[in-house]
Parts: sequence; C-alpha cells; structure tokens
Amino acid sequence: MNIYDMTYKKFCDFFAENNEKPSRAEAVMTSLYREGADSLEKLSVSEKIKAMLSEDFHFPSLECIDISDGETAVKYLFRLADGNLVETVLMRHEYGGSVCVSTQAGCNMGCKFCRSGRLKKIRNLTAGEIVQQVLFVKKHTPSLTGISVMGIGEPLDNFDNVMDFVDIMLYPKGLSFAPRKITVSTCGLVPEIERLTAEHFPCNLAVSLHAPNDILRSDLMPVNKAYPLPVLMKAVKDFSKKLNKRVALEYVMIKDVNDSVVNAAELAELIGDSNLYVNIIRYNSSEGDIYECPDFEQIMRFYDVLKKNDISVTMRRELGSSVNAACGQLRSDYINNGN
Ligand code: SAH
Repeated sequence: MNIYDMTYKKFCDFFAENNEKPSRAEAVMTSLYREGADSLEKLSVSEKIKAMLSEDFHFPSLECIDISDGETAVKYLFRLADGNLVETVLMRHEYGGSVCVSTQAGCNMGCKFCRSGRLKKIRNLTAGEIVQQVLFVKKHTPSLTGISVMGIGEPLDNFDNVMDFVDIMLYPKGLSFAPRKITVSTCGLVPEIERLTAEHFPCNLAVSLHAPNDILRSDLMPVNKAYPLPVLMKAVKDFSKKLNKRVALEYVMIKDVNDSVVNAAELAELIGDSNLYVNIIRYNSSEGDIYECPDFEQIMRFYDVLKKNDISVTMRRELGSSVNAACGQLRSDYINNGN
C-alpha cells in the first residue's frame, strides 16, 4: 500500500493491530509531512517501526514528465505508477501559491465544454496519489497556502479517497492546512453533497453550476439530468445553512451559450437570499474548440445584473490560461501529440 494513503486514524489502527502504541502514528505522520521524509530510511522512527512499516507500505513514484511554466501558473503532468497521467496546477499568488489537484484518471461526467472528460474515467486516484501531487508542488513552493480539489475528475465520485486526502492535509501535526484553505469542487452530485452536510465537512465547497436553467444545464452537463437544479440548489443551500458556510457557484462564461443578461437574472433568482455567491470564470478555449469566451463588455453586463440583484460575485484572475491550465488541457495536448 502507498504510505501516503494513510490517515492518522488509519496509522493508529495499524499500530494497534501490530501491538504497538497508537501514538507511533503521530511520529510517522510528523516525519512524513513536517519533515518531508520521502523514503523509509528517512523516517525518523525506530528500526523496529521501520521494519513493521516496510511489510505493508511503500513509497511509490510520482513521475513528473512535463512542466509548463507560465507567468501566474505552473502546470505539472504526472505519470502514476501504473502509467496513467494526471495534471496538477500551481497558481502563483503574490504571497505563495495554491495547488489544484486531480482526483481521477479521466472523468465520466461528460461536461460538453471540459477537456478532462474526453478521456473516460479509468480509475479513481488513491488518497496517497492526491497527497503526492501536493507534496511534489510543495517541494518547489514551500509557501503553499491553499488547495483546490478541482483538477481532472469528479472529487465526489471518489468520495472516500478524497475525504482521506483532506484529512491528511488537515492533520495538525503534519501539513496542518486550515480547513478554510481547502476547497472541493463538484459538478453537482446531490447524494454526496448531502453526505458532506451530514458529516459536517470542515472545508469549503464549490459547485460548478455554469447554467441557470435545467434545459441549458442538462445540455451542457449530463449530471443535471440525474440531479436537476431544484434538487441541486436545495442540497447546496442546505449545506450552506447547516454548516454556516458560503458556497461558491462556479460559472464559466461561454459566448452566446450562457452569458446573456436573461441568464444572469435567472441565476440571481436561483440564488435568492441564500448565502451562495457566484464565481465568474472566463471560458478557456483551446484549439479546435466550438466554444469561446464572451468579450469583456458582455461579462460586465452579466456581472452588473447579478450585482443589481444583490448577489455577491467574484471574478477569478486570469490565472492559468497562458499555460493551458483549464482542466485536462495539458494531458490532452500530450496525448494528441502522439505520446
Ligand atoms: N468535477 C469537478 C472538479 C473539476 S473541474 C467540477 O466539475 O467542479 C474544475 C472547474 O473547471 C469546473 O468548474 C469546470 O467546469 C471548469 N472548466 C472546465 N473546462 C473549462 C474551460 N475550458 N474553461 C474554464 N473552465 C473550465
């Protein structure tokens, strides 16, 4: 098993089963995540504990096969131990950076505008494979301040591993990220959103909405047929209310598709007086794309309608577009180039 798959709790169970003090778990977690031990030899635990760990665990490779370095974002293409490719993006901010991790090899959600879905899901990543993406990026960017679970894949379609990943990131004597620094994004899997609510998910939730009515949303995002907007909005508002958190609705602006002022009014109506806010994202087009991003004036018209309706709106800085950082683009370029 990948040693990075292990949460603190799982290490406690492991040591208990091996008739060792569960407190050994803390030493291992601290060595892995505070000291950055990346091999069994480097772990600061006794030889006896190392021998015990070596029976069950290994440090698998995460091979970086391509890096594209842009002004505001760096994109890493990784090859997993079984050959599958995933992408990770570091978004540079003035102080430090945040990392965007992938959770699946491929994706089954089939959103029309997203390149991640061109390759169907091959498998879920393990918690450790998600952890390793963060560790790799952190090595080059020690001042990593945030994590977005928004790379390739649908995080809530890999629920348990993503929850373990989050748990490992939060572990106080390890990397010790603050819950508010981690955001998990979903295309709208309602039962799993309800599960997050029931389990008091400590971190932030973002929902990829992208359309304000069922006809349009079902056309762009097949998941909407299973969980249409009334059902989705209820689950999201419930999450927001019960956990007392603001939730971001991600809205990628696509020219002549979802960018009209009528769409903006529909969106305002959906949100009503809830604690949700809209994050407007410019559509990132790539070669041969049927969609494009509206011009700035149109985006501002949309923005103004939301504002007039007292909706909070944020606009993502133009991070990433210079390195093809929208979901799945690096991997799909790599594959298209005959690799
Ligand atoms: N499956 C999850 C997380 C991965 S997608 C989700 O849907 O939220 C991360 C975000 O990038 C989503 O909001 C997705 O809709 C958006 N995205 C996909 N393709 C894009 C593109 N070409 N330009 C801009 N954003 C895009």
